[in-house]
Amino acid sequence: MTDTPQPKTPGWTIEKLHADHAQALRETIVHYDSQTDHQRLRVFENPTFGRILTLDDVVQVTERDNFIYHEMLTHVPILAHGAARRVLIIGGGDGGMAKEVLKHDSVSHVTMVEIDAGVVDFSKAYLLGISDGAFDDPRLDLQIADGAIFMRDTTDRFDVIIVDSTDPAGPGEVLFTEGFYGHAARALTEDGIIVTQNGVPFLQGDELTGTMRAFQALFSDASCYLATVPTYAGGPMAFGWGTNGTARHADLSTLQARFEASSIATDYYTPAIHQAAFALPPYISRLIP
Ligand code: SAM
Repeated sequence: MTDTPQPKTPGWTIEKLHADHAQALRETIVHYDSQTDHQRLRVFENPTFGRILTLDDVVQVTERDNFIYHEMLTHVPILAHGAARRVLIIGGGDGGMAKEVLKHDSVSHVTMVEIDAGVVDFSKAYLLGISDGAFDDPRLDLQIADGAIFMRDTTDRFDVIIVDSTDPAGPGEVLFTEGFYGHAARALTEDGIIVTQNGVPFLQGDELTGTMRAFQALFSDASCYLATVPTYAGGPMAFGWGTNGTARHADLSTLQARFEASSIATDYYTPAIHQAAFALPPYISRLIP
């Protein structure tokens, strides 16, 4: 990580969502704006969303709406699986994904592979509410490494793999390849589940199609599910889903019983939302080959 923090004069962050579509977020305070070893990292305050972390000018996490994204990428696969012990997170440098996973007492070990130490350091310094102690949990094994190389080389097996990466540009690009997904399939236990951050289909449909095509070749159950996160603008966000088990078909009473047994308080996830999230509108289901 390079130099000392260089707060800039507050103004507006213009996040380009697409060639001709952007969203603007007002900055009231800029806490940090500089280059890490891998990407441009900015942390600033916005009156509506609280503290915001961007990487290469793309919103990664906000204090106010991250709960939707983190609850849906963790509780859906873990409660669908029903007996997840070992979980792998690829990316997730802000610690929010690890926080939600670690709420499950049934989870005994979480490996988190994040390429950029700067994201972890600044999330600990400026976004502590998002990780909320996750980095200090003895069950967490944090490794600073490229997730693609880790997945290629690991001999470990995981019940749930969560790809909480940036979009397929820059360091995140390798996490959207058939090679990476093939290694991930090998690293899953027999009924293991992989879920992936797959962007907003209305603007990033090709990404979802690519992941689904790869998952169809690897898993008997390849699909996606949805949640709407306000700062991931452009409509509902898609999460890729792949497994050779039958977890997607866990019925509502089973999910309800598991959720109640977990004693986890949520602000977005419910078993009914879990099941409904897999109902896809035609404009999105048409993106699945
Ligand atoms: N919620 C965000 C989203 O939906 O785009 C993701 C947030 S999380 C901060 C994304 C993390 O992925 C970043 O910390 C980034 O450094 C990490 N990352 C990107 N490429 C990676 C790679 N090849 N291996 C491991 N981590 C990677």
